[in-house]
Amino acid sequence: MFRESIQQMTGYVPGEQPRGTKLVKLNTNENPYPPSPKVVAAIRAAADSGLQRYPDPQATAFRMRAAEVLKTHNAEITPDWILCGNGSDDILTIVTRTFVDQGKSVRYPWPTYMLYKTLAEIQGVRHEAVPCEPDWTIGYELTAPSPDLQLVYLANPNSPSGTLLAPGEVAAIADALECPVLVDEAYVDFAETNCLDLVRTNERVLVSRTLSKSYGLAGLRFGYVVAQPDVIAQLAKVKDSYNCDTLSIAGATAAIDDQAWLADNVAKVLAERQRLDAGLQAAGFVTTPSSANFVWATHPSGQHQAIYESLKESGVLVRWIKHHGWAGGDDGLRFSVGTPEQTDVLLSLLATC
Ligand SMILES: *Cc1c(COP(=O)(O)O)cnc(C)c1O
Repeated sequence: MFRESIQQMTGYVPGEQPRGTKLVKLNTNENPYPPSPKVVAAIRAAADSGLQRYPDPQATAFRMRAAEVLKTHNAEITPDWILCGNGSDDILTIVTRTFVDQGKSVRYPWPTYMLYKTLAEIQGVRHEAVPCEPDWTIGYELTAPSPDLQLVYLANPNSPSGTLLAPGEVAAIADALECPVLVDEAYVDFAETNCLDLVRTNERVLVSRTLSKSYGLAGLRFGYVVAQPDVIAQLAKVKDSYNCDTLSIAGATAAIDDQAWLADNVAKVLAERQRLDAGLQAAGFVTTPSSANFVWATHPSGQHQAIYESLKESGVLVRWIKHHGWAGGDDGLRFSVGTPEQTDVLLSLLATC
């Protein structure tokens, strides 16, 4: 009784989210610092004013505030360029359902965020994982013409590598393609450049963002996409009517409003990323320079699983990621940037294992 494509697929496996333990949790790129106190205050106030009514289906308060904030970052957009989602995973689902027909295909550079594959499987469409070079650069195969290609996912910065394509490189990819490109900017607040400008000049470029990482709000579930108003209007038909709830809209609006809190948080994470990278190298790892809040590392011994397990036994959870068959190596470890104290614990364990 199940759809063939659902029965065949394995399903996305999120990183471990252990409950009620005192682990040093460096496996799913959450912010080690809490969100702005104004976020919690806004959620309380929204709860106090009652939850018996449905939320604003368009999350207007957030879109208005976000448009103003993005303008200060030189992106000339208005609220009709923004659509909100229940996390950016919801945005990715909406985008996939809007653009990709049965029998068609999607493409993404690989290794990358594994949800793209899952979304294609749920949609029942073909997915082409285009291998990156061992140094994570993306070849022209990503833009090779294909009549069936209807969507390209491009995580930028990428995960698990933390590597960043410059806006000009993303523009070249978008221009070479006939289908839309979803630039997944989940980690962009930790990077030096972003691709919002491309949305203005190319209607096939969509940029998704999340409050889960840089704003310290993974538990709230709020993301958004920036695209031209004609594109947003089509996406809006596909989303659930009330995909963001009253509390998350209130919290997210307060979060994007507090740019000083964001800047402070990002500065702390960037300083610690530097120390983590240097510490991993001192422990014998080969690291990839990161534009995100994590560092991808491989060890010449190849003993990534053993290192992951040994750290876990000592109470430090990191992400062991496999990509069998990739020319850049079969697996490695991704370390989220934590607090200085968490880095200390990690590095002292690595010195002995
Ligand atoms: C964390 C992450 C997301 C999902 O973010 P949510 O807003 O929490 O759903 C999307 N894309 C990438 C590449 C991520 O790492």
